[in-house]
Amino acid sequence: MKPDSNQFEIVLPSILAQAFDYLALEGMELSAGDIVTVPFGKSESLGVVWGKGKAVLPAGKIKNVKTKHTEFPPISESVRKFIDWAAWYNCAAKGAMLKMLLPIDDIEKQGRVHINTQIEINKINLTPLSEIQQNAADNLNAKLVKRFSVTLLDGVTGSGKTEVYFDTIARVLNIQNSQILILLPEIGLSVQWLERFESRFGFAPVVWHSGVTPAKKRGSWQAIATGQARVVVGARSALFLPYKNLSLIVVDEEHDNSYKQEEGVMYHARDMAVARARFENFPIILVSATPSLESYYNSKQGKYTELSLPIRHAEAVMPDIHLVNMRNENLTSGHFISNILREKLAQAIAYGHQAMLFLNRRGYAPLMLCRKCGHRFQCPDCSAWLVLHKSKHSPKLACHHCGYNIPSPDTCPACGEKDTLHACGPGVERLLEEVTEFMPQARVAVMASDSMGNYNDMSQIIADMGAKKIDILIGTQMIAKGHHFADLAVVGVVDADLGLAGGDLRASERTYQLLHQLSGRAGREAIRGQVFLQSYLPEHPVIKALISGERDTFLAAELTARQNAAMPPFSRLAAVIVEGEKEEDVIKTANQLASALSTKNSKLHLYGPAPAPLFMLRGKYRYRMMVKAERNVNLPDIMRSWVDSVKTPSSVRIKLDIDPQSFL
Ligand code: ADP
Ligand code: ZN
Repeated sequence: MKPDSNQFEIVLPSILAQAFDYLALEGMELSAGDIVTVPFGKSESLGVVWGKGKAVLPAGKIKNVKTKHTEFPPISESVRKFIDWAAWYNCAAKGAMLKMLLPIDDIEKQGRVHINTQIEINKINLTPLSEIQQNAADNLNAKLVKRFSVTLLDGVTGSGKTEVYFDTIARVLNIQNSQILILLPEIGLSVQWLERFESRFGFAPVVWHSGVTPAKKRGSWQAIATGQARVVVGARSALFLPYKNLSLIVVDEEHDNSYKQEEGVMYHARDMAVARARFENFPIILVSATPSLESYYNSKQGKYTELSLPIRHAEAVMPDIHLVNMRNENLTSGHFISNILREKLAQAIAYGHQAMLFLNRRGYAPLMLCRKCGHRFQCPDCSAWLVLHKSKHSPKLACHHCGYNIPSPDTCPACGEKDTLHACGPGVERLLEEVTEFMPQARVAVMASDSMGNYNDMSQIIADMGAKKIDILIGTQMIAKGHHFADLAVVGVVDADLGLAGGDLRASERTYQLLHQLSGRAGREAIRGQVFLQSYLPEHPVIKALISGERDTFLAAELTARQNAAMPPFSRLAAVIVEGEKEEDVIKTANQLASALSTKNSKLHLYGPAPAPLFMLRGKYRYRMMVKAERNVNLPDIMRSWVDSVKTPSSVRIKLDIDPQSFL
């Protein structure tokens, strides 16, 4: 028996469901790529025809396709192959991948979005490029044939990388019906970028990120699928949408951590973007002042073309970076800003300039401790201390992993003593208090994800900073990214060592990138920028590299270290996280997995199992393992069949993380 010739395999956009066979009724012509609605369970679902049906089922057991959505072009073969590949590579369900391509329910219902379909090419008003920029732009433009290529646009902060790729975008817009996708990290923070785009191009791009309303998303999706949306700017999830005629992807700040999706389907948007460009055969541009070690290595290997912009535009020069050796500071208890930094902040404000203070810690203090009995406040559901928050509401202690929070008590719950609780260490709110104490007249604002909660507030702070309504902006890593403030003279890094602790594979690389990017905010126009790094580790290679400005020496040393340890990009990693409410089941499963692998493949190296650094998260116990393999090993297949070979109790969940970035 063979399946019916009118039977089709249809993939549903669902994490749980994969693909099912359905029948096309008389008169409905279906082919691979068509978007359809099918009955599913008690209701209906969208789906995409993937090919001919395979299942042999008794008549009557198979349901009929309900509708074929002819108003949208079919999903092309290259995009279907990309989805297949991405599901395979990331060890994810194909349905989960398709959900990112079809993230809306009612595709026919009219959406709400304003699209400029008629782009007036002659109204595009680009900035004339400098010679060095023009040279980079010409090189980029030589790549704009419809063929796969990867270019790493590596230029110092403020060198005009954005202006250069705007030039490329303008050229691609000249190609009929072409579509362009620009990926930005933290799209919610990109007000300045959007304003710049509109002023140069005379129209607004379609914006895609998780904060967009459903009606707007629907409209944007329709415009993307029909090709009306010529330029789309988005966060990582914009990558999987069904562009009708995608011709170029730009990944700005390609090194950025937030391109790795850690929840649900785990994938790295930069890597998937390169894959999509390869499947659909078009050029991709990776942009950064601090390229990831992976991209840097690929360009050194000649796999990517490297274009560099080594100097800042016009009279702007790179900021001076100073070390503040905190071992020599005598700060009074509860104070964290060195004398020199205080002085420089005051000076900047006196001259009418602006300043930033960076500390990658939300809240007021990272830990509360009883001075009498030593009690520390811990989250009941996570292996984490509770963080003291003071702003706006009455003080509370909160878990940054699960959101658990309690009012901050004045009596120690362990020893019953009153007024013995002590806030240890600084968070951004505490810096606000300190700055206000020595500069009561300064206008100070704090930018951190929890004090904001939504994109508008952040945009407001950025606008206020731009309008010089703020003198000093204190913030977490959100202030490091991409902003351009003309009068920003001083940047203070309160704890430059913070990211170096923990010994994570990428700790040095990340710290370097973050602090370098942050320094790059200073002195972007006429004022010379000054950066102060407060550190207790002045001899650390990262701190030394930041001070000396020898980025490539640092990257080369990092690469050698990775090579010696046979770590990525010289090998491949995959992490396994075993989670569950019953500790003994979690341990048993982890051990079973470990012994199943060691007997199976001698080419792999297994680390663990061991309790995860975040041993408990939201009430679940967690164990981790990591597999290291040579580059040429088919890791996804091995991981999948390995995990499938072990019987898992229903209370235990196993997560696979290919190319892990986080080791918590
Ligand atoms: P990057 O993306 O490398 O950080 P930008 O493209 O943001 O650099 O450029 C930094 C600043 O210099 C911006 O304000 C930009 O408008 C300006 N700029 C860059 N190139 C030029 C140019 N050729 N002419 C005028 N202004 C420029
Ligand atoms: Zn918690």
